[in-house]
Amino acid sequence: MTSDVDVIVVGAGVAGLSAAAELRARGKSCVVLEATGRIGGRALTTHPAALGHAPFDEGASWLHAAGRNPLVPIARAHGDALLDSDGVRTRRIVVGDHPATAAELADYDDAWGRFEAHARARALQAQDIGFSAALEGLRANPWTATIEMWEGTLIAAADPHDFSLHDWRVNELDGANLVVDGGIGAFVERRLGPRAGPVLLNRPVTRIAWGDKMAAETPRGAVTARACIVTVSTGVLAAGGIAFDPPLPARTQAAIAALPMGLLTKVALRATGADRLGLPDSVSLHRQVGRDEPAMFFLAWPFGRDHVVGFVGGPAAWALARAGDAATEAFARAQLRLILGSRADRTLGPAVVTRWGTDPAHRGAYAYARIGHAAARAILATPLAGGRLIFAGEAVCTDGLAGTVGGAYLSGQQAALRIVESPD
Ligand SMILES: Cc1cc2nc3c(=O)[nH]c(=O)nc-3n(C[C@H](O)[C@H](O)[C@H](O)COP(=O)(O)OP(=O)(O)OC[C@H]3O[C@@H](n4cnc5c(N)ncnc54)[C@H](O)[C@@H]3O)c2cc1C
Repeated sequence: MTSDVDVIVVGAGVAGLSAAAELRARGKSCVVLEATGRIGGRALTTHPAALGHAPFDEGASWLHAAGRNPLVPIARAHGDALLDSDGVRTRRIVVGDHPATAAELADYDDAWGRFEAHARARALQAQDIGFSAALEGLRANPWTATIEMWEGTLIAAADPHDFSLHDWRVNELDGANLVVDGGIGAFVERRLGPRAGPVLLNRPVTRIAWGDKMAAETPRGAVTARACIVTVSTGVLAAGGIAFDPPLPARTQAAIAALPMGLLTKVALRATGADRLGLPDSVSLHRQVGRDEPAMFFLAWPFGRDHVVGFVGGPAAWALARAGDAATEAFARAQLRLILGSRADRTLGPAVVTRWGTDPAHRGAYAYARIGHAAARAILATPLAGGRLIFAGEAVCTDGLAGTVGGAYLSGQQAALRIVESPD
C-alpha cells in the first residue's frame, strides 16, 4: 500500500467522511484510512439481539440545533424521516419518594429559566470559570444540582467542576432535536458513506511523517500525499495513538491536552413482556438529585420501541467504565428502582451497555474544553505545515456545534476547503 494521492484523511467518522466528500467534489484524490472495520465512528447504529434487533444508536442519537445542523438538509434532500423528539416527549420526575407535584414541576421549570439567565450572564464576563462555579449563586435552589447533572454531566458529558463556562456558552445547543428514523449511524453510513468514496478499513495509522510530503504509516503499509487531514478524537491523540514525526508543536500539544474527552454511557434495557410500567411512549424519567450525586436519566419506549435507554455521564460514567459492564448495568437498574420501584426489575430484562470509554479507537464520547481554554478548539484547528496538515473532528469545531455530529461534519468540510484553497 504505497499510493500517492493529493490528501490522506485519517478516520472515517462523520468528519473524515465529510472531508473526503468535499475533496472529491473539488477534484482532489484522497485515501481515507480507518482503524476499525466500519465507517461512522461515534455515529453507530446497531441492532442488538438483547433489544429484539431494534435499531439502537450507541453513540449519537439526536440531530441537535436542527435549524443550523448541516445534516438536517442532507436528510431532508434524501427524504429520510426526521422525528421531533421534543415534540412527543413527556416527563416523569421523582422528588424523594414521590412523583413531583405540579408545584414542584413549576419550580423546576422556573429553576431552568434562572439557570440559563444566570449562566449566560456570567459567561459574558472576561474571566472564564468552571461550569459548576457558575452555579454557586443558585445553590439554595433544590433543583440546581439536577440541572448541573443534565447540562454538565449529560449534555457536556464532563465533570462540571472541570469544564469551561465560556466554551459551554459558545456551544450551547438551541432549537429542535431531531431523530433520524432507523438511527443516525445507519443514516451516516447510507448518506455520507457513498459521497466520501472508498474507505480503507482496518488501517490504523500509527505514525504520520509531516514534511515536504505527508506519509501515513499503517501495519499494512504507508500512503504518501501532499496533505493530510487527521480526524481522530482528542482522546486518541492524547494517548499517543498516532506518533507525529517531527513532534507536533507545543501549542498544538497543549490544545490537545486542554480538550480531554468526556464520557456518556448508555444502558438500554428491554421489556420482557407487554407491561409498559404504566408509562407512555417517549417519556423521560429522572429524579431530583443532590450535588455531585452520580445519577442517571432515562428515556422509556422511545418512539414506541420496547426498551428504556439510560444515560450516565461525566465522572460517574468514567468510574463505571472502569468497573465494567455488569457494574454499569447494576447501577442503571438501581437508578430505575429509585424512580419506578421494584416493578422495574420485573419488567426490564436483557440489557446493552455501550463502551466508548474503553474503546481504543475513540477513548470517550466527545471533548470538552478545560477552564480557561475555550480557545483550544481554534488553536487545534490552525493548519500546520503551511496548510497541509489539518486536524478536524467534533473537538475542533468552532461553529458552536462542538461535540456533535453536525460540528464534526462542518469541521471536516472546512479542513478540506482549506487544503483545496492552499497554494501548491
Ligand atoms: C454516547 C454518545 C452520545 C452522543 N450523542 C450525540 C447526539 O445525540 N448528537 C450529536 O450530534 N452528537 C452526539 N455524540 C457525539 C458525536 O457522536 C460525535 O461528536 C461525532 O460522531 C464525532 O465525529 P468525528 O468524525 O469527529 O469523530 P469519530 O466519529 O471518532 O471519527 C474518528 C474515526 O477515526 C478512527 N480512528 C481512530 N484512531 C485511528 C487511527 N489511528 N487511524 C485511523 N483511524 C482512526 C475511529 O475509528 C473513527 O472512525 C455522542 C457521542 C457519544 C459517544
